[in-house]
Amino acid sequence: MSTTKRNTWQREAVRARLAEAQGFVSAQQLYSVLRDEGSTIGLATVYRNLAQLTEAGEADSLQSLDGENLFRSCSTGHHHHLICRSCGETREIKASVVEEWASRVGAEHGFSEIEHVVDLFGVCERCRSKA
Ligand SMILES: [Zn+2]
Ligand SMILES: [Zn+2]
Ligand SMILES: [Zn+2]
Repeated sequence: MSTTKRNTWQREAVRARLAEAQGFVSAQQLYSVLRDEGSTIGLATVYRNLAQLTEAGEADSLQSLDGENLFRSCSTGHHHHLICRSCGETREIKASVVEEWASRVGAEHGFSEIEHVVDLFGVCERCRSKA
């Protein structure tokens, strides 16, 4: 029982810090924020809670270009991301031609229940003007 309670507290802490983060963050980054404010949470626990939030549809996860797993508290429903690889600013992109393309290509190959993940990385306007 005490274990359940502690897990709930940790889940809430991870959820709250994820919601405050600007754009996508790694487990390591969230872990540093939590440790800085005096939390005794472990890195493995941060990872596990992020995975659970993602599983529950409360967070999105993606892999950065250098292979790191990143997480973000997102709106629900299917969407894509446009991410600045310099500052991490993230825009949610709702509908696009990708939807129609994906189901057409799937159908052409006899596949059904097609799912896709499309995330775009670039440099945002603000970072570009800084360069
Ligand atoms: Zn998202
Ligand atoms: Zn930027
Ligand atoms: Zn899509």
